[in-house]
Amino acid sequence: MTHVLSARSRTRLQGVHPDLIRVVERAIQLSRQDFTVLEGVRTPERQKQLYAQGRTKPGRKVTWTLNSRHFVNPMTGYGHAVDLAPFPIDWSDLTKFDAISRAMFDAAKELGIAIRWGADWDRDGQPRERGETDSPHFELAL
Ligand SMILES: [Zn+2]
Repeated sequence: MTHVLSARSRTRLQGVHPDLIRVVERAIQLSRQDFTVLEGVRTPERQKQLYAQGRTKPGRKVTWTLNSRHFVNPMTGYGHAVDLAPFPIDWSDLTKFDAISRAMFDAAKELGIAIRWGADWDRDGQPRERGETDSPHFELAL
């Protein structure tokens, strides 16, 4: 089964680095798990709101930094990160995120573009071994 990016996913890729968009577009073709783009470029204001969540505002912590690869990189003029989730949305089954990750890394390898995944920062193929929790997050490894 071949999946295609939804119009909403494409809209959310606006302002993201073209190399990362190429990886996402190839990954959706390779992936056995359909997925959606949750977020691409993020403003510093939005990052501050997210950072407050679970600290000074209610909710669970969703970010650990006030800096973010989702910001527009001043060197390239693009955001260097995307957040992807299984479609239909399912936060409970992490194997679906692992399937997305396999497609993302297969696509990146095919295209010769280096990426990192928020559930396996040291890239040893062992997701969440150090308690990494950012399973939706992929970024360019520049
Ligand atoms: Zn992210």
